[in-house]
Amino acid sequence: MVKTLRFEQGPIRPPNEARSFLLRVTRNCPWNRCLFCPVYKTKKFSLRSVEEIKKDIQTARDIADRIIEISWKLGLNGVVTDEVLNHVINKPECGMSWQSIAVWLYCRTNECFLQDADNLVMKPEELVEVLKFLREKFPDITRITTYARSRTIVRRSLEELKDLRQAGLNRIHVGLESGSDAVLNFMKKGVTAVQHIDAGKRVLDAGMELSEYVMPGLGGQDLWREHAIETAHVLNEINPDFIRLRSLRVPDRVSILEKVNSGEFNMMTDDMLVDEIKLFVNSLVRVTGVIASDHIMNLLEDVAGRMPDDKEKILGVIMKYQKLSDEERLIYRVGRRGGIYHSTDDLERDPVKRKKIEDLIFQIRLESGEEGIEKLIADTGNQYI
Ligand code: SF4
Repeated sequence: MVKTLRFEQGPIRPPNEARSFLLRVTRNCPWNRCLFCPVYKTKKFSLRSVEEIKKDIQTARDIADRIIEISWKLGLNGVVTDEVLNHVINKPECGMSWQSIAVWLYCRTNECFLQDADNLVMKPEELVEVLKFLREKFPDITRITTYARSRTIVRRSLEELKDLRQAGLNRIHVGLESGSDAVLNFMKKGVTAVQHIDAGKRVLDAGMELSEYVMPGLGGQDLWREHAIETAHVLNEINPDFIRLRSLRVPDRVSILEKVNSGEFNMMTDDMLVDEIKLFVNSLVRVTGVIASDHIMNLLEDVAGRMPDDKEKILGVIMKYQKLSDEERLIYRVGRRGGIYHSTDDLERDPVKRKKIEDLIFQIRLESGEEGIEKLIADTGNQYI
């Protein structure tokens, strides 16, 4: 009986949705051509029927009820504690769906993220039906969010977007990536800067929150200035609630690698990226939302705060990194890519960890020189994708 209770989930979610209930509304990406994106490359896009999604929502509800029942049986008043969580995780007959709901109830975020890449491709009235059913089955949910492409959003009228908001969709995450048409075009993003602006404004006008993902490094060494300035320009026009940085990484399975290998696309180094982000932040002049650097791919996690009040603080973080000696920057980069450091302040915090990093650098230098260290940094960074 337990085994039969499971529902479908997709492969990814934004970092800040790690503790949300993940519900798959469509499968994969209807565009799937962006050169930098490895996520759905071998997967075919498909819509899911409203009935199928509703069935999954009902299953998630049933699982949640069963987990709460377990809590009562353990004398824990329906609360999902460590004990309940361990009970579910340690039972082999409870699969991923159970674990996912148990963790969600344990974290008590009351937040839900709809997967996969572009759920606004669904007919608006169908998505409204799904949202209403979800709210009905989980009345405690306080926030429902989704990814959507700007090109899809501009095909929806303001009324349709308002209907979605009314039905309970609170926030849309958009992969803006760049505000430069040259960069968007080169990377086959399938959208223009004007469409990004139009889409962003529509989402906000409909009363939803807007989270825009920006990809430092996407312009490469040839277009980095344009990328930084024009992306900031688009964001100045939109003024979204959140700007989230997610730096470009190029693991083996992304299409852009071919252009990197042929010399058609020159990757930015970490230090160049920091320069680019500085120019980008300096160019944000009409933004009043939050900047977050909450992705492990980013070098400086503390490039974060609310604009414009925290602009100087953010620039201070960047300049602190730039003022480090070459060797200190290297130690930080190795520590950061290894998941040990989050901020340059960490360089001073733990002498034992620092010594380990220094020893590692010494060893690799001996074996394979500076090239070996750069390879280590690249490989450890790419493992997170
Ligand atoms: S639209 Fe998003 S999910 Fe689809 S290929 Fe581009 S980056 Fe990847």
